[in-house]
Amino acid sequence: MNSKKAELFKVGEVYNRMSDIHNKYDGQQQGGISTPAEFPYIFIFTGTTGGDYGYRDGYDNEGVFNYTGEGQIGDMKMTKGNLAIRDHQKNRKEIYLFEKFLSGYRFVGLCNYIDNRIEKLKDRNGELRDAIVFRLDIVNAQNIDTAQNLHANIVEAPKSTYCTKPSKARSLQQLREIALSSTPTQASTQEKIQSIQNRSTAIKLYAKKRANGICEGCNETAPFETKSGPYLEVHHLTRLADGGADLPQNVIALCPICHRKAHYSLDHLEFNNQLINKVASIEADLNE
Ligand SMILES: [Zn+2]
Repeated sequence: MNSKKAELFKVGEVYNRMSDIHNKYDGQQQGGISTPAEFPYIFIFTGTTGGDYGYRDGYDNEGVFNYTGEGQIGDMKMTKGNLAIRDHQKNRKEIYLFEKFLSGYRFVGLCNYIDNRIEKLKDRNGELRDAIVFRLDIVNAQNIDTAQNLHANIVEAPKSTYCTKPSKARSLQQLREIALSSTPTQASTQEKIQSIQNRSTAIKLYAKKRANGICEGCNETAPFETKSGPYLEVHHLTRLADGGADLPQNVIALCPICHRKAHYSLDHLEFNNQLINKVASIEADLNE
């Protein structure tokens, strides 16, 4: 069996919407939600800035990714693409999330639907209307079993893992397991939200524990101590709004100078690439 077959897209990679997605799988070429008829996939697209036509995609206060449904004028209806998202599990369709990046779209990951709500947002004409806002659980790529033919099976974590509260006292390995866990689709909404928060906390604690008081950017000792240990900031190397995948190779613990440099310096893209390579080698050493 060809284990690569189901690996349609690589997390973090940038794709051309036309040649890499629609020419291969078909589906609507316009709009945010594309539902190819011949494949069990749903492709959803989000801008990096949001706010266009009152769309407000991004992470909410609970750290859960919010995605505004389709329909540019008037009230949004639970039909077509919106319905496809809501019922994707029942219909055995996978949701692939892409974010606008330069002239293409970066693949963020597979998503599981959690729930949706109605919000009053402006439509294209500036009129307030009912907009459907979905809450989605972005699945870590490492939990996707690609040894399947058509369906990328999501490997779900046991309850003992996804319900475990992360704390500083936990080992690097325990924090990694929590951060990488995937919540079963049949878990309750409350458990799903809690588990997303646990993962997000766990990955930050993981990066700090891995750094062990030394900036992973410049190798200098953290600038000062706090009640909870050496002061370092956690930076996501690939960003989706203010988040990014909770993967060990996507986070780095930095001193404030390196963190500012990663965001604001003239050569921040190059610096980020250096950091990506650095983390990859740190992680490779850890896994030896
Ligand atoms: Zn530094």
